[in-house]
Amino acid sequence: MTTVNHLIHGEMTAGTGRSADVFNPSTGEVSKQVALADRATMQLAIDSAKSAFPAWRNTPPAKRAQVMFRFKQLLEQHEATISKLISEEHGKTLEDAAGELKRGIENVEFACAAPEILKGEYSRNVGPNIDAWSDMQPIGVVAGITPFNFPAMVPLWMYPLAIVCGNCFILKPSERDPSSTLYIAQLLQEAGLPKGVLNVVHGDKEAVDALIEAPEVKALSFVGSTPIAEYIYSEGTKRGKRVQALGGAKNHAVLMPDADLDNAVSALMGAAYGSCGERCMAISVAVCVGDQIADALVQKLIPQIKALKIGAGTSCGLDMGPLVTAAARDKVKGYIDAGVAQGASLVVDGRDLVVAGNENGYFVGGTLFDKVTPEMTIYTDEIFGPVLCIVRVGSLEQAMQLINDHEYGNGTCIFTRDGESARLFCDEIEVGMVGVNVPLPVPVAYHSFGGWKRSLFGDLHAYGPDGVRFYTRKKAITQRWPQRASHEAAQFAFPSNG
Ligand code: NAD
Repeated sequence: MTTVNHLIHGEMTAGTGRSADVFNPSTGEVSKQVALADRATMQLAIDSAKSAFPAWRNTPPAKRAQVMFRFKQLLEQHEATISKLISEEHGKTLEDAAGELKRGIENVEFACAAPEILKGEYSRNVGPNIDAWSDMQPIGVVAGITPFNFPAMVPLWMYPLAIVCGNCFILKPSERDPSSTLYIAQLLQEAGLPKGVLNVVHGDKEAVDALIEAPEVKALSFVGSTPIAEYIYSEGTKRGKRVQALGGAKNHAVLMPDADLDNAVSALMGAAYGSCGERCMAISVAVCVGDQIADALVQKLIPQIKALKIGAGTSCGLDMGPLVTAAARDKVKGYIDAGVAQGASLVVDGRDLVVAGNENGYFVGGTLFDKVTPEMTIYTDEIFGPVLCIVRVGSLEQAMQLINDHEYGNGTCIFTRDGESARLFCDEIEVGMVGVNVPLPVPVAYHSFGGWKRSLFGDLHAYGPDGVRFYTRKKAITQRWPQRASHEAAQFAFPSNG
């Protein structure tokens, strides 16, 4: 059976100890093994990145950007192969996989602007014969730890930007679906990246702890669930590292009575059930303002949910594939059981779905609950599956209070035709990414991505301008070149222009 190995110092490197099964979620079969790094293997990658750093930080940004240009071209050329690798291990449909890759490529495009984004700031004559500027210098060896649900896009949020900023990077991808992530990293080597600038090391907690504890690793970018995000943030910052740790979510869509219902229904179908609900920006709660819109929404959703085309992600023309693992499927079904037990009204039940020919796949059908209340676990917890909950409220203010009271604050949206409601919502909602008639407001690559509250630990959001700030540190330089003929006496007062 094939083993997915590490990429260390530009070479494929076999593991020395433990490994884990990688499953095909559409069939339930083990398709590969993935090596799980021990501390010694992680140290090889850290040493490699450290050795590559002096030459890479001194490589002109324009030359670093040229590598990214070639990388972008290779990613586009290999879109079909990458999408298939994603789909085989994650389970998402081929079209969805291609979509995530395209959003990832947009981050590579942003990184191609390295010479522009690293220009810094300059002031001439801040004093007599004195000029000042701020320089954006790389941090050194930095690491990224990524989740299973976007094996292509989320790593591409991180390392292209970190690398064009002059850092060397160690990526610890999800051990559940490592193949596309590794394949993409190999394309960056092919694009001409020097050895050691990007290392990919597979593993679990042992590998992550080795990164947290290594003094050579100066910054950690994490994307995954909230408990692990909080752990990485507290352990990393305790050791003086710069950390951005993006966590879980519970994203609400507010439906106002004046919403364009047909468009809102289409938007909700894609946002709730696309990728089987395994997106940190998935809409999992529809908050209906008034019973009239709630009743109309339920009636329109039922036939569309029942008509979802569900099957092996690698087949064409589907809406939804399976969940990623048997454990994920069991967890989602457990939440549906709990919703029924806690008194929510189960309108469409996806628990008994069987896909002909794929009876052992990890499938759960589209599920809809109505009359959900805030104390139910299907409301409080991130289910990360194809389950949409409807909560009924009486006013926009109540809808906003509900959202603001929730522990997560990743994404949200409002469906309305009224500008005043939309403006109030954008101003007052305590969520990091907001859509107005846009269900998945994932910022484009030249803005930055990040939630509020327990959806993000750290100060800077991922990618875009915040990503540049995260992967660089500023140095302020004040320089004086006195005129040869002049001589200035010592000054003992604090220097000023006064
Ligand atoms: P996860 O937290 O289980 O794993 C994420 C990474 O952490 C993986 O690389 C994993 O190997 C590692 N990890 C797991 N347990 C660890 C431990 N005990 N110690 C150290 N490292 C550990 O998350 P997941 O299941 O892969 O991904 C789904 C979660 O990610 C969801 O909660 C989703 O909302 C979240 N997510 C958030 C964003 C965002 O931008 N906010 C984006 C994508 C996914």
